[in-house]
Amino acid sequence: MKREIDINDISDGRLYGLNDMVRADCNDCLGCSSCCRGMGDSIVLDPRDIFQMSLGTGKSPKELLETCLELNVVEGIILPHLKLAGETEACPFLNSEGRCRIHKFRPGICRLFPLGRMYENREIKYFLQIHECPKPSKGKVKVKKWLDVPEAKQYEQFILEWHYLLLDLQDEMEKRQEDQFQKDVNMLLLQLFYLCPYEADRDFYQQFQERKHKISQAFIVKP
Ligand code: SF4
Ligand code: SF4
Repeated sequence: MKREIDINDISDGRLYGLNDMVRADCNDCLGCSSCCRGMGDSIVLDPRDIFQMSLGTGKSPKELLETCLELNVVEGIILPHLKLAGETEACPFLNSEGRCRIHKFRPGICRLFPLGRMYENREIKYFLQIHECPKPSKGKVKVKKWLDVPEAKQYEQFILEWHYLLLDLQDEMEKRQEDQFQKDVNMLLLQLFYLCPYEADRDFYQQFQERKHKISQAFIVKP
């Protein structure tokens, strides 16, 4: 999604790749759950997050949306995010010991933190957010180890494609300036990527490609 930030204000000024070492290791976050609370609507979920959370909780995407998630419009596109609640605005997956109940299946943004991600020339670069995580003396860790996702390169490729698919859809909506078109795009996006259950025994990335093809065919006009 389009977001203008000055990277030097929020980071150590360096950009990292998957194989770079970065001082992000919070030592298992022992005693801290600060980034699982008070994050507002910022823990936005991508289609792989829904696939993973469905596997991890045994809930269908629809049940997840009805219980643990909320929808929000981000630059014209409706996307789900974790629904935080209570006095401390806690994530619904945080247990009473302040640990994540779906750690193995946690969303991509949770895996990334305290790293951030930026998109440049169809590549992803990572940066270390220096004002977000209060844990002192973080250890050095390889970016891909920190993400803790199998086949990190394939995962990164998916993140890139998802990002640019949303940008392409936004561009089409801006060109058309029609409420009905915007509604149609959002309905199909929600249906295809967030409501229609994924097959647990089939490769997620293959299923993503099939759904991406459908929405591209429906709404993206090739120049
Ligand atoms: S704020 Fe840092 S130490 Fe605390 S839970 Fe998040 S990543 Fe872990
Ligand atoms: S899903 Fe887990 S890691 Fe992510 S905010 Fe919730 S409790 Fe924290």
